Amino acid sequence: MKVCRTIEEVRGLSRGARSEGRRIGFVPTMGALHEGHLSLVRAAKAECEFVIVSIFVNPTQFGPNEDLERYPRPFERDREMLEREEADALFAPDVEEIYPPGALTFVSVEELSGKLDGKSRPGHFRGVATVVAKLFHIVEPDAAFFGQKDAAQVAVLRRMVRDLALPVEMCVCPIVREADGLAMSSRNAYLSLQERKAALVLSRSLAKVRAEFEAGQRSAARLREAGERVVAGEPGARLDYFAIVDPDSLDFVDEVARPTLVAVAAYVGTTRLIDNVVLG
Ligand code: AMP
Repeated sequence: MKVCRTIEEVRGLSRGARSEGRRIGFVPTMGALHEGHLSLVRAAKAECEFVIVSIFVNPTQFGPNEDLERYPRPFERDREMLEREEADALFAPDVEEIYPPGALTFVSVEELSGKLDGKSRPGHFRGVATVVAKLFHIVEPDAAFFGQKDAAQVAVLRRMVRDLALPVEMCVCPIVREADGLAMSSRNAYLSLQERKAALVLSRSLAKVRAEFEAGQRSAARLREAGERVVAGEPGARLDYFAIVDPDSLDFVDEVARPTLVAVAAYVGTTRLIDNVVLG
């Protein structure tokens, strides 16, 4: 696996592989890799002949009081994991390589970026869209692989790709969970033993909503109440949002009549966690 630090290097590799007729798959990450990330690498390997993974803790998607400084950066461990998965290239640029001094250009997916996590984290999706657009221009992938775990991110990036006619196929892979149901996340590393137990309330609240749906409940208000009640029952968690929305527009729905996104975000201690399920 080739490790690239510069735009020029990774673009050269990508163009070289394309000129040999290989399909380029791209997996953007912030590192601190876990099985969720590796599932994306495996999906990319299954569909593409040349797989590039990026590790970049993107400062523009963090708010001023968020965890940019303490976000885990176990680079050697990540590199070894990707080596074992037989990724072809790892792009791990410095911040200055991605944001040259004086950079003034951003990509903003209006409206959608202010919903769900975008509402709780102002500016977050502007940072995400900007870095992903930029990485797409650098890597020039045929297909890019994202996790359903970040469902609002998927909605924002799909819209960006459509609106800007970016020549990239968006591939979205299922949420990978721990054995007890907790959605894998690099931020799970922040949790104490006690918080780790409280964190299960997210997947539990979604399981409750799914059970009510399967028992015939279609009212979004009722389903949401059921989910919120589960979260309220866990003193170690503080609800940020519990939302039942259209997966593309992220608009609230009244009834679950077509595929519908049920998304939850909650603070466990100071750690903000998210999870979701699609019903219907
Ligand atoms: P991150 O490193 O948190 O920016 O995540 C990089 C990619 O991995 C994103 O597309 C995430 O949606 C995806 N991802 C993170 N956690 C999981 C998970 N538990 N299951 C599937 N994909 C995930």
